[in-house]
Amino acid sequence: MSTQSYKPETLAVHAGTVRSQFNEHSEAMFLTSSFVFDSAAQAAARFIGEEPGNIYSRFTNPTVTMFEERLAALEGAEQCVATASGMSAILACCMGLLKSGDHIVASRSIFGATVNLFGTIFKRFGVETTFVSATDVSAWSAAVRPNTRLFFLETPSNPLTEVSDIAAIAAVAKKHGALLAVDNCFCTPILQRPLELGADIIIHSATKYIDGQGRVLGGAVLGGKKVMEPVYQFLRTAGPTLSAFNAWVFLKGLETLKIRMDAHSANALAVAQWLEAQPNVARVFYPGLPSHPQHVLAMKQQKTGGGIVSFEVKGGREAAWRVIDSTRMVSITANLGDTKTTLTHPATTTHARITPEARAAAGITEGLLRIAVGLEAVSDIQDDLARGLNK
Ligand SMILES: *Cc1c(COP(=O)(O)O)cnc(C)c1O
Repeated sequence: MSTQSYKPETLAVHAGTVRSQFNEHSEAMFLTSSFVFDSAAQAAARFIGEEPGNIYSRFTNPTVTMFEERLAALEGAEQCVATASGMSAILACCMGLLKSGDHIVASRSIFGATVNLFGTIFKRFGVETTFVSATDVSAWSAAVRPNTRLFFLETPSNPLTEVSDIAAIAAVAKKHGALLAVDNCFCTPILQRPLELGADIIIHSATKYIDGQGRVLGGAVLGGKKVMEPVYQFLRTAGPTLSAFNAWVFLKGLETLKIRMDAHSANALAVAQWLEAQPNVARVFYPGLPSHPQHVLAMKQQKTGGGIVSFEVKGGREAAWRVIDSTRMVSITANLGDTKTTLTHPATTTHARITPEARAAAGITEGLLRIAVGLEAVSDIQDDLARGLNK
């Protein structure tokens, strides 16, 4: 199907679909590790790339390709490479595009495992990273070195929902000949399209909203053909490939992404507004609230505030844990992007392994809670939080 002129919700349902000889309506799951050739000559032509087609599922698989095409259509990207997890998407991106001696400038407010990958593991291989403020564009310029190859950010950030100015940071990257990669996990292409704002690469943890029901892990790297070629070559060689089963789950997840993101956003805004009115809440962090420091930028760059809300309760860790331990419906887990609302205490879970000083510098206080608002009734979510808040 030519998908050029369709709107996102239509692309999410139809883009990428290729039917087999059986003409199935719902996309087929091709659970096969390899593909059969008609002849020795065809096998040879496939292997040297003279004839397009599948060879082995580490390289390509029809179900995975359908997912890649659908996500690429939604992000407006020339090419998508699906990976086994969000972290392996970041790994494939960097291993494809960087070499020893290169330098990364990254936002300080990125996923904990990404900080570890850049700051510890890549360092062993001679790739250094400078971590800078997510919101201060001049800090990105100041951190550039002659060997800077990659800018990396995540917006809104986890857990404080800081919003980075993608267009402004993309302009700095371009000026210095670096590529900008944006982890678009929190917004998905339904709420934010980084390539249109000047980014070169998009990273996804499909584990979150793209699945949307907390079932399987996966990820993706997207960008122009030239940028993506070495990323694909790394994946094909090193093998952090997405399974056909997980790709099929994501294909089905994408079909409801628009209505889910709209519903997550509406619920999150209602919960954030309600939290702001609670006497035992010191502060609420949500890009959709006028009180958010980058509210104006967020509303220009994203369609809604998204589904993640953080808030600081009065009374430190004890009060924060009381809210968690008084819930009956909300899940105490660090995952996000699920239909089920999840609640986490970043200081003792996702951000427990960084030093107390680094935590304080990042604004992750002992009273901070992060809620990934699900699709339950808002009043039920509020009642569940109120129990501990009002104790
Ligand atoms: C979860 C997450 C990742 C890592 O994804 P996995 O699928 O768990 O490997 C990367 N970035 C962000 C923003 C995430 O939330």
